Amino acid sequence: MTVELISVGTELLLGNIVNTNAAYLAEQCAGMGLSCFYQTVVGDNEERLAQTLKTALERSDIVILSGGLGPTQDDLTKETAAGVLGKKLRMDGHSKKRLQEYFAKRKMEITDNNWKQAMVPEDAIVIDNENGTAPGIIMEEGGKRVILLPGPPGELIPMFEGAVYPYLAGVEPGVIYSQTVKLCGIGESKAETVAADLISGQENPTIAPYAKTGEVHFRITAKASAEKEAKKLIKPVVKELKNRFGMNVYTTNEKVTLEQAVVDLLLANRLTVTTAESCTGGLLSARLTSVPGVSEVFKSGQVTYSNKAKHKLLGVKKPSLDKYGAVSENVAKEMAKGAAAASRADVAVAITGIAGPDGGSSEKPVGLVYIACNVRGKTKVKSWHFSGNRTKVRENSVVAALTLMRQCILEYYSEVTFR
Ligand code: ATP
Ligand code: MG
Repeated sequence: MTVELISVGTELLLGNIVNTNAAYLAEQCAGMGLSCFYQTVVGDNEERLAQTLKTALERSDIVILSGGLGPTQDDLTKETAAGVLGKKLRMDGHSKKRLQEYFAKRKMEITDNNWKQAMVPEDAIVIDNENGTAPGIIMEEGGKRVILLPGPPGELIPMFEGAVYPYLAGVEPGVIYSQTVKLCGIGESKAETVAADLISGQENPTIAPYAKTGEVHFRITAKASAEKEAKKLIKPVVKELKNRFGMNVYTTNEKVTLEQAVVDLLLANRLTVTTAESCTGGLLSARLTSVPGVSEVFKSGQVTYSNKAKHKLLGVKKPSLDKYGAVSENVAKEMAKGAAAASRADVAVAITGIAGPDGGSSEKPVGLVYIACNVRGKTKVKSWHFSGNRTKVRENSVVAALTLMRQCILEYYSEVTFR
């Protein structure tokens, strides 16, 4: 089955708002195993919208439209879509009642144009909107399906989850089941190369790689008559990915984040942790402390931005700062050692780098970051050259620090050595 998305709104065409609905819907549909080959953005214009929908219906089985279901003149998605499918609009008693209740509850006066929202194409399935006034619509005609959802994401997402997802899951018999294999410490292109034959050669399950900041996720999706069957199809693929990527796999659980995996590792080994951050200004400790239960292991975090603070609070030697500079292997190492000594934590991680946009030189360009991790006296230090703006460099540094922490803890307890 193929699905196509049409996002309606002149605001989208002008770039006034970002099309997050399309990203959300595309990801959801891909997760269900529906193939999406086209997405279109069209303004609030009846003729162009009708043409766009006609084209979509010629090449796709399911068309999802978002936006333009409001009460005003420029909201014309429902009228246009009904027209294209040759369906008349009728007043829907159920939607009318809900509309009256919505306004009564808020002690708001209903205006004449609001009734337009209770008009529904004949034979349509109506999706109640718990967060707004425009109901969603599903129309079926000649083997094609057209789904209309309101533009505000706060309305669209709950309606998709509550009604459209189950509807689409029932369109094709059987179940769709996905599992995610998450990797850290490996680049996107390397990961794709290692798994290239798996990605291209598979139809059921399908394997899709997603690049996240500093991480690569593989989503494996299988279709089968029952969940048990689907899981059976997925299992060998997960096993193969684990074989190929080894220690780079930090979880096969969709819900587990990298910071969660690191905290779990600390908890499992009863290791306390401290951070000493320069260019990330506390972002690493913020990410670690976003994990519930981290208080068992997280002792303290310091932001040592100036050279003086690095010397005073972490005991970084002045000659090291003078000779090598604050952004250097030696200083990163001394920061981690100093943080460990000051807090008596089992694991100490230190970050020092040049986040930019200024402060770079040919020898030490913007994006150069040193991260050191000390596990019970054993220190490992690595350098990175990140590209992108200040935000990107800082985000990448945090992910690299989490990855290095994980590597150092695993190395401490086993024979494995990471590159
Ligand atoms: P309303 O009843 O609010 O008019 P609507 O269904 O007519 O809803 P639009 O008028 O197209 O929807 O958009 C209303 C608001 O919803 C926009 O101002 C924007 O904030 C948000 N929105 C619309 N389309 C999108 C989209 N594709 N991605 C993200 N947000 C969107
Ligand atoms: Mg509108």
